[in-house]
Amino acid sequence: MNSYLPPFLDRVARHILSCHAQELPDLRRATVLLPNYHVAQPLAQALSAAAKLPALLLPQMVTLNDWAQSVPLDASVATDSQRSALLYQHLRKQQWFENADLWSMTQELLALFDELTHALDTLPRDAEAFAAAVQQAYQARQNATLQLEARLVFELWHAMQAGDELDAARAYQQRLAKLAAQASQPLFVLRASGWDAFEQRFLDEYAKRAAVEVFDLREMAPQWSGLLRIHSTGHPTGYSAGLRSQNIPPLGGRLRFFAATSLEQEARAAAMQVRRWLQAGKRDITIVAQDRVVARRLRALLERAQVLVADETGWTFDTLSVSTVLDRWLTALQSDFYHHDLLDLLKSPFIFADMAASERKAAVYQLEQLLRKQGVVAGLEKFVALAEHETVLHQPLARLRQATMLLEQNKKSTLAEWLEALRASLRVLGIDTGLQQDDAGAQLLRALGTWQQELAADAGRYRFAEWRRWLAQQLGAQTYRDSGIDSPVRFTHLAAARWRAFDAVLLLGCDANHLPSVADGGRWFNDAVRSALNLPTRSIHTTRQSDDLLALLALNDCVLVTWQKDRNGEKGLLSPYLEMLRDLHTLAHGDDLGENELHAYLAAEEAHNAELPQAAQPAPKVTAQAVPASVSISAYNSLVACPYQFYARHILRLNELDEVQEGIEKRDYGERVHDILRRFHERYPQVSGHPADELEASLRRISEEVFADLLQQDFAARAWLARWFAALPAYLEWQTENEAQGWRYAEAESAFDWELEGVRLRGRIDRLDARGEEKRVLDYKTQSEQVLRNKLREPGEDVQLACYAYAHEAADAAFVSIENGKVKLVEPKHDVPLLAQLNAERLVHAMGEIRGGAGMPANGIDTVCGYCEMRGLCRKGEWP
Ligand code: SF4
Repeated sequence: MNSYLPPFLDRVARHILSCHAQELPDLRRATVLLPNYHVAQPLAQALSAAAKLPALLLPQMVTLNDWAQSVPLDASVATDSQRSALLYQHLRKQQWFENADLWSMTQELLALFDELTHALDTLPRDAEAFAAAVQQAYQARQNATLQLEARLVFELWHAMQAGDELDAARAYQQRLAKLAAQASQPLFVLRASGWDAFEQRFLDEYAKRAAVEVFDLREMAPQWSGLLRIHSTGHPTGYSAGLRSQNIPPLGGRLRFFAATSLEQEARAAAMQVRRWLQAGKRDITIVAQDRVVARRLRALLERAQVLVADETGWTFDTLSVSTVLDRWLTALQSDFYHHDLLDLLKSPFIFADMAASERKAAVYQLEQLLRKQGVVAGLEKFVALAEHETVLHQPLARLRQATMLLEQNKKSTLAEWLEALRASLRVLGIDTGLQQDDAGAQLLRALGTWQQELAADAGRYRFAEWRRWLAQQLGAQTYRDSGIDSPVRFTHLAAARWRAFDAVLLLGCDANHLPSVADGGRWFNDAVRSALNLPTRSIHTTRQSDDLLALLALNDCVLVTWQKDRNGEKGLLSPYLEMLRDLHTLAHGDDLGENELHAYLAAEEAHNAELPQAAQPAPKVTAQAVPASVSISAYNSLVACPYQFYARHILRLNELDEVQEGIEKRDYGERVHDILRRFHERYPQVSGHPADELEASLRRISEEVFADLLQQDFAARAWLARWFAALPAYLEWQTENEAQGWRYAEAESAFDWELEGVRLRGRIDRLDARGEEKRVLDYKTQSEQVLRNKLREPGEDVQLACYAYAHEAADAAFVSIENGKVKLVEPKHDVPLLAQLNAERLVHAMGEIRGGAGMPANGIDTVCGYCEMRGLCRKGEWP
């Protein structure tokens, strides 16, 4: 420990000993009120050292809250969840705030009610005294002019105080009143900043019956107190800075400031400093986290460097992954299992935790494959139908269905019923098991159980959405502390650092937005309302933080302050307290306390990271076993366009996770057109001889049938259908002309599997026409004639037509371009059988090379790369 705290504790110890000199070595008659229990041990050591006795019976050392809780009360105390539900129902019934988020308003109101209770002029010790005090306060305000919000808060508070039922604030008051009434032993109080008014009232009452000695750091360290005086706006006055600078001690050896240019730099600098302190042998390092966002990043960086951080402050449940699984489950339910929500849920490590991990992963993988391939956007029943033949999915989907039935979204239920249904659904989904295996998860489950129990008697009924908002709010208010981590590095907050000294202190996130932290009355009721109600305003809150900060600086000799001078491109300001301190120090000692070493360390770290190999044009090789034995026509096209693309899509199989299309795209349009023409020609293999209007009507009817499901799902499908309708006359005309040339429709969609040397080529042909012995392969394309001509310009660039022709022993092959109301035949200029033969030989050769260990370079041309989904993988653009 540094040398600043012991002298203060020594003074306290000697005073206590002198007051109890007659009773030594027994100090048990005295009580010491501590700001926190961390002070107990150093104080005990100081007492022992000052007493110089072989044994010492220590005084009772306790925090005020714990001391009060030890006082029994006859009546039961209503919980916050019960009060909150009651008030919410009242506000909902009154319909005063129709579009407001009533749950957040409820929470703010309850906090204000507690403050109003604490602001009573007396410290009522029972229900009768309380009722009298409330009545007195009510009468005093009744005739006062209050603004509407203040009047509303006050009247609601008054109405809720009727009756004998205790809430936490009233119970605390009664306990303090009883403690004060029983006062008989001397009381010693350690403090660093102001009390709440009712706590001061308790001390005053206590002092009427027994001695009270207060050790206030503000008085014990006069060179610090009064150094910063802050206006109620939170800004330093700036007056008499010269005068005060004379009082400021030289701080160069104990306090430094690091101004970061970004959040990331602040977190990195903080992590670097903590590691340096650890290296230097410091074993009690505290991080006062003013900015929780930077704190999160810092924690991640430290964990990456194998430094765990203990946490006295805790994190609210809504920031933890254990709550995320709840949120994902309810979101998936509410969105009727929108595929992204469902996949998010299934990828949570907490779901189906009672299944073997390999089984669970296989099921999730299988479902993802299936729904992405089939393009199903949402709907649990659709997924169930889709997975009919996938046994691995039957159980997980059945469990999702069962859990869904437990949470009936159309019903109105009580909060306890919703919680019961939620907990049952968590059990069905195995989330319960997953959460039990995690400390935070187990605490979360306990909290759900506690809320359910507390609210069992509440009869108010809530819609699903109302209950979800309630749950979100509860999770945002409940804190989780990981007590399992024992580390020399810990997070804490300013108030918890009172009367404590550490080997090193990092004050993190000390910009003007976070120090003093905002506490201006919240979203619904601002400082003006608080002031009208005679409640402590922002200035009280900020003064307390200023005192706590000064106390921390007075007791610690190794402090680094970090803050962001640039925040998202805007200039950031240092906390006004610290800015003033720094300015005074500069004035008095010519040192602005800037940290000078960290930048060099960070630059060195960056340089080390930059030594990572730069991305180069990849040309991966694979083993012969990894090379597919069968390739599709489109895979072959990919191999020709860019071998790396083929590698990524067909060897790594990254193409299998296609995005589920939520709106109709050109590819769907093309597939539907194929389907329409296949059905049409099954009915009309020959159009000649049928009346034109009959043909067109039939084609329209089939088209509407084929587009029916898309029209339901997506409004844009109408535009695509209209586009197709525009081409109908041209298509029928083209078909008639085709028949006039002697060609007859023979078959459609026939698959082929072509055995080549060492590889099979497979595909499916759109259509085959025949003219006597002649055969012609046709491939429908919803692309313009010009695009298709370009495709065929270079022999071998497009492998499709030639391979189709070869597979069907057809001498001819052509694209049928259907675009912009026109239908055109586009034929290759080259000899198709020869092309097919060359293509087959090339495929055999290329696959043989790959099997033999040849690299597959990423060498697509720009037009191919422009549409390539593997661009992020090959990192074209980052190559030197
Ligand atoms: S972006 Fe271009 S180079 Fe990269 S894989 Fe795709 S086609 Fe090949």
